[in-house]
Amino acid sequence: MDNHIRPPLLLFSSIPILIVAMDFYFDNAATTPIGARALEEYVETCRTYQANPSSIHREGLRAHAYLEENRVRIANVLNLDKENIVFTSGATEAISIIMGSLLWQKTPGRIITTRIEHEAVLSHLPLLREKGWDVVQLRAKGGFVDPDDLGNALNRETRLVAVMSVNNVTGAIQDIGRLASIVRQYEKTLKRKIFFFSDSVQALGKTGLDLKAWDVDGASFSAHKIAGPRGIGMLYLKNRSQVRPLAPAGGQESGMRGGTENLAAISSFRVALEEAYIDRAQKEEKVAGLNRMVRDSFSGDDRFSIISPEKASPYILSIATPLPSEVFTRMLIDRGFCVSSGSACSNNARKKAGGVLEAMGFSPKTSMSSIRISFSDTSTAENTELLIKTMKEIANG
Ligand code: PLP
Repeated sequence: MDNHIRPPLLLFSSIPILIVAMDFYFDNAATTPIGARALEEYVETCRTYQANPSSIHREGLRAHAYLEENRVRIANVLNLDKENIVFTSGATEAISIIMGSLLWQKTPGRIITTRIEHEAVLSHLPLLREKGWDVVQLRAKGGFVDPDDLGNALNRETRLVAVMSVNNVTGAIQDIGRLASIVRQYEKTLKRKIFFFSDSVQALGKTGLDLKAWDVDGASFSAHKIAGPRGIGMLYLKNRSQVRPLAPAGGQESGMRGGTENLAAISSFRVALEEAYIDRAQKEEKVAGLNRMVRDSFSGDDRFSIISPEKASPYILSIATPLPSEVFTRMLIDRGFCVSSGSACSNNARKKAGGVLEAMGFSPKTSMSSIRISFSDTSTAENTELLIKTMKEIANG
């Protein structure tokens, strides 16, 4: 959100909702401030649908019908079928359903993933290794998984391949369609399915996303990366039969994710998604312009170096600075800017960013000095210029 106070948003009642201004906000890959319409929808749904969607009385049926309407509308935006969508508390839970499903298998096999995945994937690997799974983590030289590396890693024991669509530290966009096709080809000789999963949190609403064309089996998403509310996300599942729920509970979400549905968050997510897809390509182009401004401003300045590859989401830009990243980030924070010294989704952000950058082939020194600037379609050229100017001033000492 840019540095201005929005006028109070008057809802249909007389309660004013003031969306408070934030500092110069360039940390949208960590989370985006909730959008006005998504917030309005959240409040309105809380007021209008007060019953449990599983209840069989009239109010429950109304809530259930609205839940399903939201599912259909989300499916329509993403060109999916409503049966493909399982609402979860966010991407972390969606990923945990997939990784946790492996523990149900009678015998362990091979998992192929990458060294640049988000912690939401990586944190499952120690337990899986302990349970006998053979975990192969592909490198990502320059930010990209080499399709040949994936082809070479596939073996008869492989059950899961997990490669993220857009990296949260660098924005690098993987060619998921190509990687999935290598797996599909291998399946023909294997005569059995391998589950292809893609954590697509940073792709949703920001870069081209076509899960059906990519031919993936599963994907994870979080609403709060696209100006939706926190605590809601979804798991895309092409076919539910290969997956076991973490918590079957009362059978909600067709038995894939038990627990009373958060209808207000789901409908607010739907609004945020629909909004993200209005003029999506133009928004991406605008953000690409801001990204280019930053790249060009630092290209002749050898105190800085651009870390994000060119084939990256314009929404995410990592830059190596002349100072350790914590110091540089702190100096920007003191001047009113929000950026991140890596991926700020956990309290272990530095280590995570370092792991990703070192897997890309950067030296520990470069990775220790990197900061992440992440835009949204509400970012402005003025504020981006101010950020550039402030970064140069900090470098001047
Ligand atoms: N995957 C990626 C690529 C992310 O960037 C994030 C959050 O930053 C997640 C997964 C986890 O999302 P959440 O914290 O909303 O569950």
